[in-house]
Amino acid sequence: MAKSLSILFVTSEVIPFAKTGGLADVSAALPLALTELGHDVRIVVPKYGTVSERRNRIHEIKRLKDIPIMVAGEETMATVKSSQVVNSRAKVQVYLVTNDKYLEPVKGIYQNPTTGKDFPNNDERFIFFQKSVLETCIRLGWRPDVIHCNDWQTALIPVFLKELYAKDNFFAHTRVVFTMHNLAYQGSFPASTFEKTGLSPKLFAGNGLEHGGNINFMKAGIVYADAVSTVSPTYAKEILTPAHGFGLEGVLKKHKEKLFGIMNGVDTEIWGPETDKLIDTKYSRASLEGKFENKTALAAKFNMVADLDTPMVGMIGRMVAQKGYDLIVDAIDELAKAGIQLVIMGEGEKKYLAALEKAARKYKNIGLVPGYDEEMAHQIQAGSDMLLMPSQFEPCGLNQLYALAYGTVPIVHRTGGLADSIVDYNPKKGAGNGFAFTQYDTAGLLEALKRAIALYRDEEKWEALLQSIMEEDHSWKASAADYVEKMYRKP
Ligand code: ADP
Repeated sequence: MAKSLSILFVTSEVIPFAKTGGLADVSAALPLALTELGHDVRIVVPKYGTVSERRNRIHEIKRLKDIPIMVAGEETMATVKSSQVVNSRAKVQVYLVTNDKYLEPVKGIYQNPTTGKDFPNNDERFIFFQKSVLETCIRLGWRPDVIHCNDWQTALIPVFLKELYAKDNFFAHTRVVFTMHNLAYQGSFPASTFEKTGLSPKLFAGNGLEHGGNINFMKAGIVYADAVSTVSPTYAKEILTPAHGFGLEGVLKKHKEKLFGIMNGVDTEIWGPETDKLIDTKYSRASLEGKFENKTALAAKFNMVADLDTPMVGMIGRMVAQKGYDLIVDAIDELAKAGIQLVIMGEGEKKYLAALEKAARKYKNIGLVPGYDEEMAHQIQAGSDMLLMPSQFEPCGLNQLYALAYGTVPIVHRTGGLADSIVDYNPKKGAGNGFAFTQYDTAGLLEALKRAIALYRDEEKWEALLQSIMEEDHSWKASAADYVEKMYRKP
């Protein structure tokens, strides 16, 4: 048997403590799956002001108090607290980093919740967090075999480790790997931010952290990590092109030999109709009538009446261009008249919200949840017949995988992880697990929806489709093993 590894998983969000999107789900589920494979995994995450200590059973750790951290030439103190993430099969230790300047007083993860704007000191907040992570290991006397960094908020750790801690032998045997969950968010700050890191000025220009005149945290992760990954095989190829690399395609191409695409999985205990604690009626492949009860309950929330002949179509996603809201807004009248009930939930840009609010007032068969509601996300998955995911681009996408588990047929734009996980239904063969459109436009979206509605009318074929998609295995097991073999083990 190969040696089991000690792994520190570094992330800016993890359920149940802090979540803005898929990263938080992955940050709990992957460490749990790795633990099940026999590895010693611990998670470290910032403790934002919104995280309740009592509700989350967060405890103090005596020797992890008041650790001095240098940010922008000033010393500030980190305190690290302890909690766990658990499922029925495993539990993982979580370290939560707090601080009186950058984290505790702030009611938001990346943005001020009242203005919807990024915090102006996000550079300092996450420089602080990343330095605290390494100091925590030293205080604990714990030399992990692997530090797994996720997204720009943690992407300076590889450079800190190799430059600031190079002389000190502590991390000599630690491999540092970096996963990019979305190239659209890179952590790009003015050049003046570079000085706040405490790194030698020679690391900025040339092949350093500089990108387009700014300091780019994600670039640091790509250049300095021992292995780099993103969250699906198709997206790993797409990001090498100008259309999806958001300016980093050149850097990525240069480091292509250490770049992997590993698909995210699903924690089926949290996202599965048999065990889901947040839905009205549990159900399974053998008791699909339970799904209609969820549809009835969902419809009622929007003053609609669930109807066996009218498909309920759900959409859950951050209200940003990436998720395809331009198509939805442009096609809203056609969608309203397509013979469906449509429920959309999301939080984000006002222009989409305003257009959808108007549509929800105009059409009785359109429901809108403007905001973020974890419970409602589960209820939409369980109560919908179809899930709409017309993303412009999609690194992996979790919602379409969750939908499969709930017998909710995904309708997707064929891009990134959606292309890797959803196979367009072929009526002749009865094969496929959803409906996919290739051309990113309203005609493509409406055509895929039309085909889905036509199949929905064929009760027998629809039932067969639900039976087969609910049987698919998208658990973390295979992907967790991939991380170990491709990323964590030294070549
Ligand atoms: P991304 O990470 O780009 O936001 P994913 O599909 O990978 O997209 O993951 C989205 C996760 O965030 C899912 O767990 C989904 O249920 C959740 N989510 C997104 N928007 C909302 C919302 N408005 N309310 C509740 N949960 C949401």
